[in-house]
Amino acid sequence: MNNLTDEQRYLQLQSLPINDLQTLLTFAGQSRTGKRQELVDRCHALMKSSMVIREKCDELHNKRFGQGEKPTIPYPRDSTNTLRTTHHHLHSNQQQNVEIRFAPFTFNEDLCVISPPHAIAPSKQSANGTQSLANFYFLLTAQQASDVATSTFYSTDQSKIEYRKQILLRFTTIGGDSTHNGINAPDKLPPNLHVIVNSRAVLLPQPKPTAKPNSDVIRPGRPIDITEYCRLCPLISNLIEISWFTQDLSVPPPTYVAAVFLTERKTVPQLLARLSRPSAIRPSIETQRTITQILSASQTPQGIDNDLEVASTSLRLPLDCPAMRIRMRLPGRAVTCKHVHCFDLEGYLRMNEKKPTWLCPVCNKQALYTDLFVDQFFIDIIGKCSSDAKAIEYETNGQWKAVGEEKLSRRAQREREAYKAAQAAKNTNGKSTADIDHSGDDDSNDERALTKSTERPTTTNNAQDDIPIIELDDD
Ligand SMILES: [Zn+2]
Repeated sequence: MNNLTDEQRYLQLQSLPINDLQTLLTFAGQSRTGKRQELVDRCHALMKSSMVIREKCDELHNKRFGQGEKPTIPYPRDSTNTLRTTHHHLHSNQQQNVEIRFAPFTFNEDLCVISPPHAIAPSKQSANGTQSLANFYFLLTAQQASDVATSTFYSTDQSKIEYRKQILLRFTTIGGDSTHNGINAPDKLPPNLHVIVNSRAVLLPQPKPTAKPNSDVIRPGRPIDITEYCRLCPLISNLIEISWFTQDLSVPPPTYVAAVFLTERKTVPQLLARLSRPSAIRPSIETQRTITQILSASQTPQGIDNDLEVASTSLRLPLDCPAMRIRMRLPGRAVTCKHVHCFDLEGYLRMNEKKPTWLCPVCNKQALYTDLFVDQFFIDIIGKCSSDAKAIEYETNGQWKAVGEEKLSRRAQREREAYKAAQAAKNTNGKSTADIDHSGDDDSNDERALTKSTERPTTTNNAQDDIPIIELDDD
């Protein structure tokens, strides 16, 4: 590799992580302290005059990228213009490696780090806002390139070829109001983000809707799959160009950090299999104990929880998933949930695969994959109930009975009586029935009503017909 040009040598140094640069400087008997860019410049100056340093750099580079004795081309051979501009940016942007660990992403398991997290410093700050440009290269080893290239399958969901092994670009923030201390850092995309990989613009997550005109484009924090934009060849490097800006001058922008990972995509059946391990299923007795506690708590006046329909002597537990509106096949919930009501875990994972919100459809609070469990109590109950049963009523004495749709809970009965009384009162006051119908619709306009398992009086059932049912594709 002694025939590399000066610029290629420079890019070779840029691709090395900070500890390799320090190793090289220690080897040369030089100071190993300073910012990453200072170390690169120091190494670069040494390499110009020393063949031994050049050979040591080759050795470190080969060890890192697994190239053995094969020649490496650490830049895209076909883009001399890019090379020149990149060279400029690498000098103008201080790219520092940072110690940060991203939060695990449920649907992708990290296999290795391709490009370690490094900060993207703002390159221009003016009265109009802050702007930042950065770019960096990464190389895949022969093994990584082959693993990704051979992991393709045809996705019926997306109607296209997809990869099981995926290269993900992730962003997060450091400093400012970041609360993660470098551990389990959540994905956060910079405002007005543009990403170009190998001269192709990358498709980013849909921006969050905003009512303000000319405001920053904020996209939901998610890992970005860049596999299809990458050159799956160990000899050719991949160039990522990142730009973002903000017009918001009210708060100083945080420092964004970018990293690239090789990951393995997990399927819903794989994730369900993990949840269904016999050791992970919650035994029936534990849920029975919790129900008894809820029922005894409801005996005291302050313990009554109307939201979860706790009656004093029995607890009504629906057998349909509140999100899917069909009989649960794999009932479960999160350890963080305060209720015993379940939802269908397969439906829940499929919804989050499409849009990862991880909100419990019963209590609307966070229900992460790592907190989910299968409830044996509900599996047993569902196995014993006929297909027309909609719920069970569990009594304080441990007895339960299945109830059909026509059988209303006590609260629903009370609501229906109250509704009838209100209707009668309004009719005698000469109000039109249209007004009354409208008042009955209020509940269905509430988005939470979609996901909550509350009962409604049968007289307002027509309003439910307007609620879109979430349909999920079967694999
Ligand atoms: Zn919940």
